[in-house]
Amino acid sequence: MEKKGISRRDFLKGTAAGAASVAAMTLLGGCATQECPTPEPCVCEPTNTDVPAWLGVEPEIKPEEIVETVETEVVVIGSGTAGWPAALTAAEEGAKVILVERTANLFKPKDDVGAVNSKLQQESIKQYPYLAIDETKLLKDAVRYANGYIDSDLVKLWMKESGETVDWYTNILERKGDFKMWHEGGIGTRDSGARDAAYATGHSPQALGERTTADVLKEYGDELGLEYRMQTTLIKLVKTGNKVTGIIAEDANGYIQINASKGVIICTGGYSANHEMMKALQPEAVRVSGTQMTMGSADNGSGIKAALWAGADMDQVHGTCSFNRAIVDPKTGKGGDPAKWYWFGEQPFMKVNTNGVRFCNESGPYDYMIHSMSMQPNHCAIQVFDANVKQHTEQLDMVGCCRLFPFDNGAPMNIPFDACWNGMTAGLIDEGYVVKADTLEELADKMGLPREAFLAQVERYNHYAETGVDEEYGKVAYRLTPINTAPFYGARTVAWLLSTIDGIRINTDMNAIDSNNNPIEGLYVCGDASGGFFGNTYFNLVTGMAAGRSMTFGRRAGRIAAHK
Ligand SMILES: Cc1cc2nc3c(=O)[nH]c(=O)nc-3n(C[C@H](O)[C@H](O)[C@H](O)COP(=O)(O)OP(=O)(O)OC[C@H]3O[C@@H](n4cnc5c(N)ncnc54)[C@H](O)[C@@H]3O)c2cc1C
Repeated sequence: MEKKGISRRDFLKGTAAGAASVAAMTLLGGCATQECPTPEPCVCEPTNTDVPAWLGVEPEIKPEEIVETVETEVVVIGSGTAGWPAALTAAEEGAKVILVERTANLFKPKDDVGAVNSKLQQESIKQYPYLAIDETKLLKDAVRYANGYIDSDLVKLWMKESGETVDWYTNILERKGDFKMWHEGGIGTRDSGARDAAYATGHSPQALGERTTADVLKEYGDELGLEYRMQTTLIKLVKTGNKVTGIIAEDANGYIQINASKGVIICTGGYSANHEMMKALQPEAVRVSGTQMTMGSADNGSGIKAALWAGADMDQVHGTCSFNRAIVDPKTGKGGDPAKWYWFGEQPFMKVNTNGVRFCNESGPYDYMIHSMSMQPNHCAIQVFDANVKQHTEQLDMVGCCRLFPFDNGAPMNIPFDACWNGMTAGLIDEGYVVKADTLEELADKMGLPREAFLAQVERYNHYAETGVDEEYGKVAYRLTPINTAPFYGARTVAWLLSTIDGIRINTDMNAIDSNNNPIEGLYVCGDASGGFFGNTYFNLVTGMAAGRSMTFGRRAGRIAAHK
C-alpha cells in the first residue's frame, strides 16, 4: 500500500485540506509515518494524540524533487547565537561543516552573554568580591524560578562550560582589535533581598570600529574553511533508520539534500514569530505582547517542527523571554495592540493598571511584571515618573541590558541614559505616546485614569518612598522613588516578545531525546530551539542566560558532533 500524507502544498498554505488531515493525524502514529490505511482520500485512524494544527505533518518530498545533493560531515542550521559557536567549533575540531541560513545575511550572536567563571569575570571578582557567583545558590534559584520544570544537569553544564565559551568568543572578537569584551560587574542590589539580587554573569562586546560581530565570526569561519548556504531554509530532516543523517532544505533553485555523516545541529531559534504556535502554546504571552514589533526574533519554529517530525519530544511547559519595553496609545492601548518599542519601559518606577492602582511589586525578573499585566484590565501597565527621572533611574540600579549607567566595575551599559532619553523617549513624548503633564491631575486625565484612585495611589506610593516600606507589595526601599516634582510622565506599556525559551528536549550531549528520553542519534538541538532550561519564566536575574546557554551549548554540540 502506498504511503500517504498531507501534501506539502496543503501544509505550507495551511489549507482546509491540510487542517482536516492534520486533525485526523497523530503525532507519531498518523499517515506521516504509517502506510495509508484507505484509498484516496487518505483517512488516518487517530491513535494517541491528535497532531496539533500548528505542527501539521512532515511534508512529503519525492526524490525526484531534489535538485542538488551535497555531502558534508556536520550541518548547522541557523547562523545566530547558537549556530555560530556550533559551526566554528565543529570546524576547529577538523570537521567539514556547512552552515545553512535562511536569510540573505549572517546573523550575529546577541550581545549580553551569560557565563560563569570567564577570565574577565574572575578578574572583576578579585577587585569586587561581592560579584562572586555561588553556583549552588544559582542552581537552586534557577530551579525555583522554573517551578522545577528545568533540567538541573543542563544548568550545571552551562555553569561548567560557559566561562570557557566566553573566553573563546572573546579571543575571536578581540584578536584583530575589532571589539573589547566587558564583564558587566553589577548585581543590582547588595543585601537587599533574593528577589532582586542578580548574578554578575553578563558579558558584552563593545565595538571599537565599524565591523559587526558577524563580520568577525565570518572572517574566522572563512579561515577554518566553513561553507555557507545562504537563503536556504530547513524543511525537514532525513532519517536512515532511527538515525538522523541529513536535511532537506530549500533555496531559490528548489530542494537540496545535505547529507551529514557526523551530525545535524539545529540552531533555528524559537517560535515567537509563528503566531499560530504562540496562540496555541502561550496564549497568555500573546495577550500582553504588542504585535508588529520590528525587533523581536523572526524565528518561526521550523527547526522545532522538523525535530518533532523526526520523533523528538518537546517541553510540556512553555515560556518566553519578553521585555516590558513596548508602548501603546496612552488612553486606549491594550496588550496585543501594535506597539512601538520603548526601551525605558523596563525601569521599575511605580506602575498602575487602567483603574489607576498598583497591582504588583514592579521590581523583579522581567517576566513577573508582564505576567501580572496579563491579569489586569487591558493587559497593560502605566509607568509613572517625574522630573527627577535621571537621578531616580541611576538609583534604580538595574542590571543587564536595561541598565542605563555604567556598571560597578566600569563596564559600559548597552545604552546610556542620555542616549535612551534623547534618542527614544523624547521622540515618544513628541508623538504623544509618553505623556507629559504639569500636574498629576492633568496626567490622570491625559492617560484616561480615574483621578481619585490614581491620586490616592500616588500619595500612598510617595509615603512608601518616604518611609522606605512598601506596605502594598514589599518593593525594596531604594527602588521606591517619589513622584512629586513636575513635570510628570506616564507611559502605557505592554510586553515586547523577544523569543521563546522552550523547545526540543535534549540531554547533556545536546542530543535531541524522545519522550522516553532516548537520544536520537545524529540530531543535536541548541539555543531557543532546545528546551529543559527555563520553565515558563526567563530568569533574567542571571544576565544573558539565554544567549549564554545558546553559545555554550552550540559550542558543545559542535565539539561532540565533530568527533562522531
Ligand atoms: C532583540 C533581542 C535582544 C536579545 N537580547 C538578549 C541578550 O542580550 N542576552 C540574552 O541572553 N538573550 C537575549 N535575547 C534572546 C537571545 O537572542 C536568544 O535566546 C538567542 O539568540 C537564541 O539563539 P538561537 O541561535 O537559538 O536563535 P537565533 O539567534 O535567533 O538564531 C536563529 C537563526 O536561525 C535562522 N533560521 C531560523 N529558521 C531557519 C530555517 N528553517 N532554516 C535556516 N535557518 C533558519 C535564523 O534566520 C537565525 O539566523 C534577545 C532576543 C532579542 C530578540
